[in-house]
Amino acid sequence: MATIENISQMRDKFPALRQKVHGKDLIYFDNGATAQKPDSVLSLLNEMNSGTNGNIHRAVHELSAKCTSLYESARITIKDFINAHSTEEIIFTSGTTASINLVANSFTTKFIAKGDTIIICEADHHSNIVPWQMACERSGAILKILPIDENGEWMMDKLESLIDESVKIISVAHISNVLGIANPVEKLIKIAHKVGAKVLLDGAQGIVHENIDVKKLDCDFYAFSGHKLYGPTGTGVLYGKREILEDMGPWMGGGDMVESVSLFKTSYAPPPLKFEAGTPNFIGAAALGEAINFVQQFDREFIRDQEYALTTSLLEGLKSIDGVKIYGESKHKLPIYSFNIEGVHHSDLAMLLDKMGVAVRSGMMCCEPLMTRFHTTGMVRASLLPYNTIEEIDLFITAVQKAVKMLK
Ligand code: PLP
Repeated sequence: MATIENISQMRDKFPALRQKVHGKDLIYFDNGATAQKPDSVLSLLNEMNSGTNGNIHRAVHELSAKCTSLYESARITIKDFINAHSTEEIIFTSGTTASINLVANSFTTKFIAKGDTIIICEADHHSNIVPWQMACERSGAILKILPIDENGEWMMDKLESLIDESVKIISVAHISNVLGIANPVEKLIKIAHKVGAKVLLDGAQGIVHENIDVKKLDCDFYAFSGHKLYGPTGTGVLYGKREILEDMGPWMGGGDMVESVSLFKTSYAPPPLKFEAGTPNFIGAAALGEAINFVQQFDREFIRDQEYALTTSLLEGLKSIDGVKIYGESKHKLPIYSFNIEGVHHSDLAMLLDKMGVAVRSGMMCCEPLMTRFHTTGMVRASLLPYNTIEEIDLFITAVQKAVKMLK
């Protein structure tokens, strides 16, 4: 059970949650955009930036050796965290966007030809739309769209009609950043694999709210960002099945991704280094490993109970507001709710909430096609993490009611 004691124990580790904004105690409900960082992550960042700083994999000196060891240990931590087969399957990137772009470039170049099909979903983040449009432009592949229904759920019957042997990859979000719905990815992966299509899961939100086991999921790629998982900005991961990564060429060329270089020819290092050209964000990657160590200190059942309590309480609170429209009502919800209130503009509401110390996201949330689907120019989103509390939800609902009165 999630108890007040262990929630406050968790909160205590986050200095950012203790600040005041506009003179009010901060209520931070914009975790879908970026999470706050615990002490242990901040200390490691500080220690490495101010002391243990030496470029990895290249030098024989102590600082380099220490940083290499921290970087490669983080790779092991991540491998274990998502239950990958080996560290060769864990590529460090600068975030979900970079991970998806890597696949959209390298996989497309090797495996996709004119007339092949790529499938994405209409609820996806721009990071999972634009790279595939660009890939189609380059390769001559056709982009097809998995639609969602009025509740924001994937229309699986439509998927069956989109799928055939021309489909080479399906790239979709595990959890929608706007709707907070955990999509039926296991089912989709099985359908895709029947026709030999690969599946990339955009796990920017999924990694935060679900226990990820890539072996069990059997996805071919899983992409996520460090900063949404209590880690540093500019860090991320691409998991890929080893045999696919071995067949894919690199996306970027440079130092550290080579086996041997002559002036006219290069042979590449095996994965993961083949995909990590140049000096990586090794301090960030080490701190991402630390963020994962932090998450793993908490009992999974505690996290699950707390997320469930927040999800139900937030829904109940929002439903009590006159004229509210909640987007994405599903049995598979996480504490990410987007909504509008009749007669109130989303950005006006978010601005007034900010003045009351409440940080929420408003606008299109990098999902313009989804906004079009729901005939709106934007929404307000409250996205919570287990360090948020029911008391904060109560204060948030009161603040929304107050703001609405001022705006109507
Ligand atoms: N995909 C989803 C579902 C997201 O929520 C986000 C960020 O909000 C991204 C992709 C892009 O992540 P990043 O900006 O960290 O690369």
